[in-house]
Amino acid sequence: MKAFHVKHYDVAVIGGGHAGAEAADAAARRGARTALITPDLGRIGEMSCNPAIGGVGKGHLVREIDALGGVMGLAADAAGIQFRLLNRRKGPAVRGPRAQCDRQLYRIAVQRRLAAREGLDLIAGEAIDLDLDRVDRIVVRLADDTTFVAGAVVLTTGTFLRGCIHIGEESFSAGRIGEKASVRLADRIAEMDLPLGRLKTGTPPRLDGRSIDFSQTVSQPGDDAPELFSQLSEGVAVRQVDCHISRTTEQTHEVIRTNLHRSAVYGEQVVGVGPRYCPSIEDKVVRFEDRTSHQIFLEPEGLDDDTVYPNGISTSLPKEIQASFVATIPGLESVRILQPGYAIEYDFVDPRSLSIDLAARVCARLFLAGQINGTTGYEEAAAQGLVAGTNAAALALGLPTLNLGRDQAYAGVLVDDLTRSGASEPYRMFTSRAEYRLMLRCDNADQRLTPLGRELGLVGDHRWEVFERKTSDLRHGKMQLERLTATATELRGAGISAAQDGCERSAWALMGRSDVDDAALESVWPEVRLIDDAVLEQLQIDARYAQYEERQRRDAESLRRSEAQPLPPDIDYSALSGLSGELREKLDAARPSNLGQASRIEGMTPAALTLLLIHAKRKRDAA
Ligand code: FAD
Repeated sequence: MKAFHVKHYDVAVIGGGHAGAEAADAAARRGARTALITPDLGRIGEMSCNPAIGGVGKGHLVREIDALGGVMGLAADAAGIQFRLLNRRKGPAVRGPRAQCDRQLYRIAVQRRLAAREGLDLIAGEAIDLDLDRVDRIVVRLADDTTFVAGAVVLTTGTFLRGCIHIGEESFSAGRIGEKASVRLADRIAEMDLPLGRLKTGTPPRLDGRSIDFSQTVSQPGDDAPELFSQLSEGVAVRQVDCHISRTTEQTHEVIRTNLHRSAVYGEQVVGVGPRYCPSIEDKVVRFEDRTSHQIFLEPEGLDDDTVYPNGISTSLPKEIQASFVATIPGLESVRILQPGYAIEYDFVDPRSLSIDLAARVCARLFLAGQINGTTGYEEAAAQGLVAGTNAAALALGLPTLNLGRDQAYAGVLVDDLTRSGASEPYRMFTSRAEYRLMLRCDNADQRLTPLGRELGLVGDHRWEVFERKTSDLRHGKMQLERLTATATELRGAGISAAQDGCERSAWALMGRSDVDDAALESVWPEVRLIDDAVLEQLQIDARYAQYEERQRRDAESLRRSEAQPLPPDIDYSALSGLSGELREKLDAARPSNLGQASRIEGMTPAALTLLLIHAKRKRDAA
């Protein structure tokens, strides 16, 4: 490799999407001299698909990123033009904050934050080559021959590796619409012994809002009391707007059905597997044959932008067919399409080839994060970016690593799922993926993670002060509630059931009961009214979940005791007698780092785990 203008960094991050932005910011927050390399600095933080952040499961990830001092929550709050708490009527564990964002304001917020970050250089360029041959560094070469030497590299190239866009029968190479695919880097990665696969995703046509007849649609306002993402945000930053809802019609489905053979995803052109949970309108019409209508959310892309994103009709039909089916949707009869919908197919790296810190097994200095690891979604990408950037800095500077457990964070579930089971289809976060979800709520993300973030150098002084203040308010609030006690007779007088066992009950103990509401508590103890509303609400959730949390914590601890048992990376599973052929194959593919990971491999048995434990111990004793 020829070396022109060699520049040295602790960490180099390749890609300026959601994973890249978090990775670079996290590495720099830890004190690593960091470079973020991406072709167009003006597109850092670009939302490739719809301009919305959060939702159920995804909102949990954003709160966790924020709790660890990350970028996404603050940027979404700065750019949010409509905030809604999804699943509001369900329990707090499965509620998800979501914000419709102004696409441009979001980018600006991310770019401002990164530009101001000390120790972080933003460099315009396309990485085309990585030299992994040295033990102590990686050499990165750009298309203009600039060369970087870094102690660790984080690769976050999203959908760009050999990206190929399909619109009907038309196909062309691109990373996303209007941007070049990354072909030379993809060729280089293919030579690296990293297992590659092909995935696909799609996006709907963008509409000109001035040509929509909104009177034919139902308007959907945001929440009266918006729930923001960041602990540091004090209120909405910009004007709030409504979204609108329309629906496909039988006529829409007819147009789509008649032209299915012309859809890229239904033709022979696309081989990659698509996201099951974000299906194209073609998929929906075929899969849900008997449904005569599907909901479409008409989401504005910004305050000074007339573009509307029709959420729910992602498609890869030819442009003229897109125009004809869109015109059958109420309100869109005369709509102008600004940009056609398309499908994109791209290379991804099988994340089972990464260890739990997101470093590639073929090279401990190379970290991968985001859609390149088979996920879909900004939040999933950002959470991985934060983990990979933190750990890249750890490797370069000799600092402690960030390994989140499944009982600690959704980000822990995400990384564990990916590195253990891989991604046979684009991976998206759901609350159902987290077995400890009663503990991992959006409302307690800061309590769970901010102290750890502070320890690792990810959380700055201001956030820490805010956290300490909140923690102290909660502690005092709880103490007050514990001090307020009443006899069974007094409680019964206020309509609260209580056994006549001679024991007094505290307001705190009663708060955990779902049959006792604020009004009942206040009628027994008027002092409760003096506690700040937000503090009281948080304490009520904490009290209600305390019993479940205790049980989940015990389960998690017993699992953690076995999780701690490391498994040597070089175990020859094929030679381990006593394991079934299927388990040998699965263990060989997953290469779990410890017994806990092994225990979650599909089909694993207690007997096989004992065998692994004995084998690992023998190997350690022999070493
Ligand atoms: P990206 O946001 O793609 O960022 C990659 C970055 O790497 C870019 O800045 C790029 O310029 C840079 N880069 C690439 N190659 C190089 C190189 N060689 N050198 C330097 N820099 C490089 N998600 C959903 O949840 N739901 C959806 O419905 C959905 N639909 C989508 C539809 C489309 C068409 C696309 C493209 C994406 C869609 N997504 C969807 C996915 C979502 O956009 C991504 O998951 C998310 O943006 C991934 O973030 P990332 O940081 O991994 O990658």
